[in-house]
Amino acid sequence: MKMRIGGAEVAGADERWMPVVNPATGEEIDRVPEGTLYEVDDAVKAAGDAFSSWAGRAPRERGLLLFRGAALVRERHENLARLLTMEQGKPLKDAVDEVRGFANVLEYYAALSGSLAGEYIHLGKAGDAVVAREPFGVCGAIVPWNMPALLMAWKVAPALVAGNTMVFKPASTTPLTSIRLAHILDEAGLPPGVLNVVTGRGEVVGEALVRHPGVQKISFTGDAETGLQIQELASGSLKPVTLELGGSDPMIVWKDADIEKAVAGAVRGRFYNAGQTCTAVKRLFVHQSIGEEFVRRLMEAVRTLKVGNGLSPGVDMGPLSGAPQRERIGTLMETLKNRGQGKVLTGGMPLKGPGYDAGYFYAPTLVTDVHPESALLTKEVFGPVLPVICIPDLDTAIMHANNTRFGLGASVWTHDLSVAREVFSRVRAGVVWVNRHLTLPPDIPFGGVKTSGIGSENGTQALSSYTRLRSLYIGW
Ligand code: NAD
Repeated sequence: MKMRIGGAEVAGADERWMPVVNPATGEEIDRVPEGTLYEVDDAVKAAGDAFSSWAGRAPRERGLLLFRGAALVRERHENLARLLTMEQGKPLKDAVDEVRGFANVLEYYAALSGSLAGEYIHLGKAGDAVVAREPFGVCGAIVPWNMPALLMAWKVAPALVAGNTMVFKPASTTPLTSIRLAHILDEAGLPPGVLNVVTGRGEVVGEALVRHPGVQKISFTGDAETGLQIQELASGSLKPVTLELGGSDPMIVWKDADIEKAVAGAVRGRFYNAGQTCTAVKRLFVHQSIGEEFVRRLMEAVRTLKVGNGLSPGVDMGPLSGAPQRERIGTLMETLKNRGQGKVLTGGMPLKGPGYDAGYFYAPTLVTDVHPESALLTKEVFGPVLPVICIPDLDTAIMHANNTRFGLGASVWTHDLSVAREVFSRVRAGVVWVNRHLTLPPDIPFGGVKTSGIGSENGTQALSSYTRLRSLYIGW
């Protein structure tokens, strides 16, 4: 089997296929080729061949192609969203938002295409200099399964607008939406070889991409351990890497918070995408003066969440991404219960019964009285489990917030600007929200500190990160 996207072959080892399974039903919905080193090599070659002509176009011309692609994606968002729900599990309304998010990001970078510029520096009698901003060449991009469309846009759009070509590797469990989106960009007029998708396993296709001498830059989103491995692999050839890794975001609810808004923010922040989001609220700290009321209202809200197949109307939360993910959450909760490391207020078990048995559903879970050594506080928990801890003062909240190797996002819920400022200046996180959590518009740079990554996506900064500078010195 040979698929062609943008002129490059997509995976294609003739006999090897990987099933794509709907996590809500356990049914195989499609198969994609399991790529090998051969397909990576082929795709890198196609991207290399396409590079000079693509980089030679005016940036605004590249931007126009992305605008066209975004318009087609908007036109077809319903079908794309259904496909995304079927392969990934999130409720249809969230899948629609994610597909629209793909179009938003394309449009954002398309609009910035006219701003790509170098510099002129006058050096007095010594001469003049021109600083050129140039694309790298072939970039490799690797993404996880939790937001296949949005994360694809975060990499593809700035890289292509800047004049690079790309080999893109989706997660093995969620390749279908990415393949369809790449076909749409193809249809919008992307020349052959500019964007290539290779499906396959991370240890094979992903590693081959990172090692490949024809790839000039790597942008990776995924688990921190994989990110560390990738950085090591890439350092052999001095490839620049952008790493967007895990998080253990704290949410601090201060005593003056609007409780209703904070409860809604916590529910969305933790249970969106069944808790499988890098910037999900993973630890919640609430001021003890409002703790009791807050926890009561939070529990009521969590109990009303409708869990089910994302294609069914009114569903708030879908399944976990698959059996391994549900097993991980199950083991973690069993350990917590067996060791008496917390009090489970609601949930704490896989969902069983009609509509649930064939899929990978887990009940939305709230835990209080959490022991400091529980994995809920020491690890990144990628599932619908929220630990809530009452804190006596801001110093304690900030101390807990920073007590993690991650530093992706953090939020504080307050109307007191001095509290907000204190949290922003003392909590080590790439993004700090006030009275919000999760929202990441394309306009603001997003990237983690500590083990949450290096480099930024979004904003004008991401566009620059897909370029390098070269100087021309003219001596008179
Ligand atoms: P993962 O690291 O297992 O996989 C991510 C991608 O890397 C997949 O495409 C996978 O096939 C590939 N891969 C796996 N091993 C590889 C290797 N040795 N070499 C090259 N590629 C390899 O991560 P996951 O479990 O799929 O995703 C969840 C993680 O992603 C969480 O930690 C989450 O916080 C993080 N994440 C971060 C962001 C962010 O922007 N910071 C966004 C979404 C998810």
